Amino acid sequence: MRVLLVEDDPAVAGGVKDGLSTNGYTVDHVSTGTAAMAAIVSEPAPDIVLLDLGLPDMDGQDVCRSIRSDSQIPIIVISARGDEVDKVVGLELGADDYLAKPFGIRELIARMRAVTRRSGSGAATNAPNPVSGQQQIGTLLIDRRAQRVYLADAEVTLTAKEFALLSFLAEDPGAVCRRTDILNQVWETDWYGPTKTVDAHVASIRKKLGEAKWIESVRGVGFRLGNPDEEDTAAAPVGPLAL
Ligand code: CA
Repeated sequence: MRVLLVEDDPAVAGGVKDGLSTNGYTVDHVSTGTAAMAAIVSEPAPDIVLLDLGLPDMDGQDVCRSIRSDSQIPIIVISARGDEVDKVVGLELGADDYLAKPFGIRELIARMRAVTRRSGSGAATNAPNPVSGQQQIGTLLIDRRAQRVYLADAEVTLTAKEFALLSFLAEDPGAVCRRTDILNQVWETDWYGPTKTVDAHVASIRKKLGEAKWIESVRGVGFRLGNPDEEDTAAAPVGPLAL
């Protein structure tokens, strides 16, 4: 995910840039409003903007308003002032969230994930993002680097095997995975005995996701990851399918 950081304070900018880079983000840093306006329309385009309101050449509010006038890119306002007025102003300008300085890098990343998930941009695509390792399928977010799963922004706690199984099914959403392939890949075994273990794990994941349709059974074959949020996927015939 590419981040445009608009911040004139070198200490804050350096800290944010280091923290985000360490976590797999690509950061373009500018320190003026003018440079921000240029960067927003340059290629490759940023996926999210972190915007300081107090800039040397122009008011960050004007920058925010201008970006929002022709782009839906997620914007998080970061401000030193930290009062409620700033927060309200930031959100009224069309920013997606507000963070008062000082803030921790973990909190920043959590906010960034939340706004990009909401807007469906950046890492929130159907295929796993190669940098962030995040994969969005409807309301389901699989974060491979952090080994975490979220459903509509709420974290779902899976065991390591459940996570591995869900990730395996998510490698090709909609494609059928045979039980034997799942045993091979997730359990790393050639043992083709009873596959009840796979079924038990699928049942547990379904229970945790609260919606059986996320993992569809394909009778006599295996499973595939569906998307109950999409009518088409849910309505698709579930088999029989050729191997
Ligand atoms: Ca500033």
